Amino acid sequence: MADIFDVIIVGSGPAGLTAGIYTSRANLKTLLIAGEKWGGQLMLTTGVENFPGFPDGIAGPKLMENMRKQAERFGVEVVEKNVKAVNFSRRPFEVDEYLAKAVIIATGAVTQWLNVPGEQDLIGRGVSSCAPCDAPFFKDKKVIVVGGGDAAMEEATVLSKFASEVMIVHRRDEFRASKIMQDRVLNNTKIKVKWNTQISEIIGKDRVEGVKFNDGSQESVDGVFVAVGHKPASEVFKGKIELDERFYAKRKGEKYHTMSNIEGVFVAGDVHDYHFRQAITAAGYGCEAAIEAERWLDDQAGHLHPTAHSHH
Ligand code: NAP
Repeated sequence: MADIFDVIIVGSGPAGLTAGIYTSRANLKTLLIAGEKWGGQLMLTTGVENFPGFPDGIAGPKLMENMRKQAERFGVEVVEKNVKAVNFSRRPFEVDEYLAKAVIIATGAVTQWLNVPGEQDLIGRGVSSCAPCDAPFFKDKKVIVVGGGDAAMEEATVLSKFASEVMIVHRRDEFRASKIMQDRVLNNTKIKVKWNTQISEIIGKDRVEGVKFNDGSQESVDGVFVAVGHKPASEVFKGKIELDERFYAKRKGEKYHTMSNIEGVFVAGDVHDYHFRQAITAAGYGCEAAIEAERWLDDQAGHLHPTAHSHH
């Protein structure tokens, strides 16, 4: 019979790896299924300057390597695979061919990209989805922000503190962002808006040099910030745990607030949180889910061996 892990963590961003550090240090036999591309959204960034503990900043991929090493040092087993199927209808839970008493879902969210020529090749070289991460690299440069939601307003506002000029490119003639966020942008003299326009191509060899618009015109710019939304990486959990109307995982637990509607299945990070979406908050959620998984497993064991309950 296959080994039964105490905990399987799905996802290897800050939420998943932090959860792994906590479960392994709690002596729980932990498998972390990292995805074929492990590390999550920070692998797409350059310098991270807002993660506490690194006064001189740290490269996103380096930060993730450190987290992974730390988790592995305490015994987390990592496999770089994408999960294809789960069965949460009985215990132990099944995650592909692996079995576990508890599961932590920390698959994160992925940037909704524009899917235009040039974009994927220039990510990290002028194309970004995170102004708080990358804005300082665009000091006195000219940048475009794509989108008309709160995220685009926020990105433009952050960028205006560094860039010489910010152009918001929006596909309609009005924003969907909240009034207060719109006002902040429309009253900012560094920000101008190009309405009813879409980008059809991002141009540049080693770095972004410009964009082509759908009306045939072109614009020279140094950066393109894409803020047209995120989507939670919850595809494989559809029909397995409760998701909201935008497919974010729902926390439904009462006693265990990080638990999904399935007892023993916990959720952490951007797959559940669309509000903060920071590495540090994801790490925090991962920590919470791990502590609750540990307590829940203790409680379960307690039901079989009532004496194990004593520390509550
Ligand atoms: P959003 O509200 O869904 O806005 C996405 C924007 O991108 C829309 O304006 C949309 O245009 C545009 N868009 C979508 N697909 C596009 C495409 N393929 N090409 C060009 N434009 C495209 O997403 P969000 O701004 O990421 O916000 C998500 C949630 O987080 C919201 O609930 C938001 O309130 C919240 N949030 C809050 C704050 C804050 O309060 N500080 C900050 C960030 C996010 P249309 O308008 O034409 O659909």
